[in-house]
Amino acid sequence: MTDGEIVRAATHGAIGSRDAGRDVGGAAPGFAAATAFLECVHCGLCHSACPTYLELGTEADSPRGRIHLMAALQAGTLTLDAAAVRHLDLCLGCRGCETACPSGVQYGSLIEAARPWIEARYRRPLATRFRRRLALAVLPYRARLRLALAPLRLLERVGALAAVGRLQSRLPARWRYRAHLLPKPLPPVAVVPIATPARGAERMHVQLLVGCVISPSMPAIVRRRRGSRARTSTRFSRRRRRRSRSS
Ligand code: SF4
Ligand code: SF4
Repeated sequence: MTDGEIVRAATHGAIGSRDAGRDVGGAAPGFAAATAFLECVHCGLCHSACPTYLELGTEADSPRGRIHLMAALQAGTLTLDAAAVRHLDLCLGCRGCETACPSGVQYGSLIEAARPWIEARYRRPLATRFRRRLALAVLPYRARLRLALAPLRLLERVGALAAVGRLQSRLPARWRYRAHLLPKPLPPVAVVPIATPARGAERMHVQLLVGCVISPSMPAIVRRRRGSRARTSTRFSRRRRRRSRSS
């Protein structure tokens, strides 16, 4: 199904059938009140606030298009197939569209309700399921993320990453794009102390959620935040995660 066909199907109730076998759970029950979708008056004012629409330029990757898709999926007039799921997967959940919407559509609530509904009904390809499980098993844990970056650091130390950079233009497009995404050089390992006292008289106390991905992959941001204590007389402390989530 092309993007145009998806949006037409979503809008006019036509049912796509090519991937009908992929829906493993049926359409009902729904994930949102049918009236929640009706609040969208299709004005398109949210388009300019949506990063995925600005990047891809396709209606199905706009807030309005996704609202159509969700409404049609819930109503059972659109098959839950790979194309429809991809358009909803690509939503960043940033809610930029909500601030631009004159109708007050609660887009964030809709997409948050739609996602588990889709997960319960749509069986993703094996490779995708593996990648998603791997990401969930690694990204929320700082220690595991550091461990995952270790081979890259070794490759950088022996000069292999620099060689990849030089050969980048000769790589297949898929790998060229991945090589392009590698930070050069790899950021140093950040060690964030539990507490950083304010310089001078303390005026406020800020807790930093150093979280999972940002600390090992973008330590400069964490350091810059803490560096601002000199200007703001602010004491920073690291927010501890619950013991069960640490690794
Ligand atoms: S701005 Fe609001 S009402 Fe207009 S198309 Fe976007 S979501 Fe719908
Ligand atoms: S949440 Fe963000 S990415 Fe998703 S539709 Fe709204 S503006 Fe676009």
